[in-house]
Formats: sequence, C-alpha cells, structure tokens
Amino acid sequence: MHISGGALPRPAETRIMVVANQKGGVGKTTTTVNLAASLALHGARVLVIDLDPQGNASTALGIDHHAEVPSIYDVLVESKPLADVVQPVRDVEGLFCAPATIDLAGAEIELVSVVARESRLQRAISSYEQPLDYVLIDCPPSLGLLTVNALVAGAEVVIPIQCEYYALEGLGQLLRNVELVRGHLNPRLHVSTILLTMYDGRTRLASQVAEEVRSHFGNEVLRTNIPRSVRISEAPSYGQTVLTYDPGSSGSLSYLEAAREIALRGAIPQQEQHNPEGAQ
Ligand code: ATP
Ligand code: MG
Repeated sequence: MHISGGALPRPAETRIMVVANQKGGVGKTTTTVNLAASLALHGARVLVIDLDPQGNASTALGIDHHAEVPSIYDVLVESKPLADVVQPVRDVEGLFCAPATIDLAGAEIELVSVVARESRLQRAISSYEQPLDYVLIDCPPSLGLLTVNALVAGAEVVIPIQCEYYALEGLGQLLRNVELVRGHLNPRLHVSTILLTMYDGRTRLASQVAEEVRSHFGNEVLRTNIPRSVRISEAPSYGQTVLTYDPGSSGSLSYLEAAREIALRGAIPQQEQHNPEGAQ
C-alpha cells in the first residue's frame, strides 16, 4: 500500500477525537500525530490540538513551541481565538497544529477559577471557522481539567493501549470519567476506538494482552495493531511523523492502515455522499 493509494471517504461533519489514557508513555502522542498525518495524506483536513504541557505532539510535527509562541494555553486561559494559534505543518498538506507551550502546565490550576472551566476547549473549537474533517486532541497522562476539557469538546475517545503487563490497569478510571462527562456535560461522548500499540508479535505477552483487550472491548478495537518500531520512535527527533520520515516502514504502513479503518468506520453512507446539501 502507498500514501498515494487514493483518498479516503471524508466524514459528513468534523470528527473530534480525544486521544486519552492516563497511563504515561503508552503511545498517545505517537498515535495522535501519525494518525493525523495519515488522514491528511489521504486528503483530509486535520487539526492536531496539543493539550499536553510537555508539547510532544508539537515537537513531533516540527512546530515551534517555545514560551512566546501563541499556544493552546492562550486559547484556554486567555480566550484567544483558536485560529490565532493554529500553524500549518511543514511537509504535510492539510495538516495543522495548535501547539502547547510550557505555560500549559499552570493551566490546570489557573482554570479552576475560570467561568465554564470544563468547556473552554469546546467553545474554542466550535468558534473555529476553517473547514476541518478531523480534530485530534493529544491529552496529557492525567485525568485533570485539561483532559476533561478534551472530553467535553470531543465526541469520540481513542484509547491507545500498550501491549504490556498492566496494560488494562487504570483504564477503569478513564472509562468512569468518560461516563461522568457523558452523563453531565457531553451526551455525544463515547469510546469509539481502541488501538494496540508497540505490539511485538514475537512475545506471548503481547498476544495475551491483545486477546484480553479484544475480549474486553470487542468492536471498538481496530484490527490493525501498531508494531514496536525503531523508525516510529526516531521520527520525532527530526520533527517529523513516521509517514514522512520513513514512508515505506512497517510503522508508517500500520498507521496508514489504522487511519483507513477509522475513516471507513466514520464514512458517510453512499446516498448522503451524493447529496449536494450534505456538505456542511
Ligand atoms: P505521555 O503519557 O508521556 O504523553 P504518550 O502516551 O504520549 O506518553 P508517546 O510519547 O507517544 O506516549 O510514546 C512513548 C515512547 O514510546 C516515545 O519515546 C515513543 O517514541 C515510543 N513509541 C511510541 N510508539 C512506539 C512504537 N510503535 N514503536 C516504538 N516506539 C514507540
Ligand atoms: Mg504524550
């Protein structure tokens, strides 16, 4: 399969996907940037929102995010329009990023006294006027106010799960938070996608974890697993996704395939796609 393998169906309306798992280092950022690049390379317009003070998604997309750069902090805390902080990603047409700077570390506390503190991001996204097919939000490894803002803003939760021992530990807490936000603040919210990452098919542990996740979640789990790959882990140090860093690598192909599954699951039924009124 190739990047030039044709456009994928575009969603009827913007799909806002929250990439979350409060466990650290499971592949949230890697998944966010590589899925986003895959979707953009297939013709979609995609915005990545970096909601982690570490700014790893901004780094991986080659986006400047030193302290003075207008960032998602200004949007959440200072009510700056999202359009004022969004930057285009070099090398990938149709891909954009709202960067995170270190300021964001203070936002969890600063937001406590702000009006409608849980829905700051949701408001910012709904006033953004540029057409978008996908918004992918990269969450920090916690369930604090930043992640809550993402859950209120989004409709779909994407959970990357690392195929290691303890993989499912702590997931219950994330799922309970999703339920809470759905019940009180955002009735559209649901877990749409589980993605197994850093999969090493040679180990029994990986296949056991995969089996356990599949029996637990069923349909939400993508058929495609993301393999453990050195190319995937090298790409961010060049400010690139694996899609441009090494397009033919197994990591790149697996993210393209995962993106294809996601796009097909959210595809518009055929007759609506031909309806000229259908485009929003
Ligand atoms: P955090 O919780 O700190 O935000 P995270 O969940 O966003 O972490 P990543 O930063 O995406 O996780 O990944 C953690 C580390 O694992 C990174 O060094 C990344 O390069 C590496 N990594 C992620 N996916 C893969 C993979 N498929 N193969 C090899 N290395 C990977
Ligand atoms: Mg991360």
